[in-house]
Amino acid sequence: MSVWAILVAAGRGERLGLDQPKAFARLGDDPLLAEPLRRLENCGWVDAIVIVAPPGWEEPSILVAEELGCGKVHACVGGGETRTDSVRAGLAEVPPDALVVLVHDAARPLLEAGVIERVLAPLSAGWDGAVPGLPVADTLKRAGPDGAVCETVPRDGLWAVQTPQAFLADVLRRAYAADGEATDCAALVEAAGGRVTVVKGDERLLKVTTADDLAKIASWL
Ligand code: C5P
Repeated sequence: MSVWAILVAAGRGERLGLDQPKAFARLGDDPLLAEPLRRLENCGWVDAIVIVAPPGWEEPSILVAEELGCGKVHACVGGGETRTDSVRAGLAEVPPDALVVLVHDAARPLLEAGVIERVLAPLSAGWDGAVPGLPVADTLKRAGPDGAVCETVPRDGLWAVQTPQAFLADVLRRAYAADGEATDCAALVEAAGGRVTVVKGDERLLKVTTADDLAKIASWL
């Protein structure tokens, strides 16, 4: 089966407070983008990669790939206003004969081959998609803007979902052909009637949002 990875890296990362996009924040000696890209390149399950770069940062992103010697990178395109737009732009570069598409957030740099294997496996067992997740451990409450608690939400069966997310390519294309907007790909596949399963995620797949996240991930490297 041919597995195409879309690495979405077009977020602005305003909460990092930098004057360049999040994908170019420093993680050790390299831009953040380099870490997940290197890991996708070195993963035997992945055949080809599409990078979705911050608009205007396509050239520097290609340079990062070249410096790493990433022979699997087939395209680098500019992203859109939202994550959904960025995934759609990446998907347009995936050829019709691809069987599986793996979508990963560049903001989750510590990608292990094991989690890629876990999300790919259900696709051979009849599922349309698979996402990594961690069971929610804390008590969940819904509160208003003033902090007043409205309700306590039962956490049974709730998962905090991460990336990489894997899908049959045709199913993902159909889901993105509609006009929906969502914070992950699986939500659009679910809305289009696709069957998605959750597999064990990885604590180290923390998403970089703040400078503290970046420091934590750097300490785990
Ligand atoms: O914004 P959020 O934290 O949900 O971003 C998750 C991932 O989606 C990040 O890797 C980010 O670069 C990417 N993204 C994107 N295009 C956007 C917004 C986010 O590629 N417009």
